[in-house]
Amino acid sequence: MTDLSKLVRENIRNLKPYSCARSEYKGEASVFLDANENPMNAPYNRYPDPLQEELKKKIAKIKNVRPSQIMLGVGSDEPIDLTIRIFCEPAEDNIVAIDPTYGMYQVCADINNVEYRKVLLNDDFTLDAERVLNATDERTKVIFLCSPNNPSGNVLERDGIRKILDGFGGIIVMDEAYIDFSSEPSWLEELDEHPKMIVMQTFSKAWGLASVRCGMAFAGEEITGLFNKVKYPYNINTLTQKFVYEQLDQEERKNKWVRMLLEQRGLLAGKLAALPFVERIYPSEANFLLIKVPDADRIYNQLVSRGVIIRNRNAISLCLGCLRITVGTAEENEILINELKQL
Ligand SMILES: *Cc1c(COP(=O)(O)O)cnc(C)c1O
Repeated sequence: MTDLSKLVRENIRNLKPYSCARSEYKGEASVFLDANENPMNAPYNRYPDPLQEELKKKIAKIKNVRPSQIMLGVGSDEPIDLTIRIFCEPAEDNIVAIDPTYGMYQVCADINNVEYRKVLLNDDFTLDAERVLNATDERTKVIFLCSPNNPSGNVLERDGIRKILDGFGGIIVMDEAYIDFSSEPSWLEELDEHPKMIVMQTFSKAWGLASVRCGMAFAGEEITGLFNKVKYPYNINTLTQKFVYEQLDQEERKNKWVRMLLEQRGLLAGKLAALPFVERIYPSEANFLLIKVPDADRIYNQLVSRGVIIRNRNAISLCLGCLRITVGTAEENEILINELKQL
């Protein structure tokens, strides 16, 4: 048994996956009478490619990975959930994650009845790798790291992450939903060196495709093979596969959006800093800013009543008095600043 397969739940290791009608057949054919599809209403009558091969080839070129190292999911939420379901035995295994971070890791752990251990970041949201490693035990299967982190916006320092990659024997998820906005390189560059690392990215943020629900997980073939075995066979529908395929031709437009948002992030930070009640603006490598104010609940509620919605993070670990503000267009940011000036 490989090192990695020892980490996999026994029922998953032994699973005989559902076999899609078309994937049993390899070759050329012109008459498809195998899947009980309706012969009318082409092309929507046909089941989608369960492995999204054309789309993955195109993503692989852009991300400089092999197509076989890619899993596509219904948002990042799907690979997050699958990672827990593949590796964590309910009521026995546990997960370790930084705190504060993205809320979906805990929700998925709770749904799967897997213990979720939170490890506080330092007060300035930097990573304490020792503290993370110390929280693990022989039943820790997965560590969730998020960089740039949500809601703090900072990148976790590479040395700390490296310590965790070297010191932990289980699966390490690197959530890079905001990587396009960061000046740091992606951990994708080291995918081949870390066979137990899963890098997650998404089309929801920089690519402007949150409504489409398409997320990417990158990992070695042993892990993507497990994802393919456990996921719903037809998780990404044909419309989505085709649409994302076309959107990938517009990488330059995506880069232009990123440059615009980074410029707006700087301008917005400057304007927020000039407001007398803003105590702190945390450094951000994402498309949002976390700020500290004396009365976050009041400011949040007043903005809501004026039709401006931001995210109140006041009740989150280390985020007392904090509000998270997504960087919008110049006009949207201007409206926000004007409303804040009137409080
Ligand atoms: C927004 C976000 C995602 C993206 O989730 P999708 O399901 O792909 O829309 C993933 N991780 C983090 C930390 C996020 O903030």
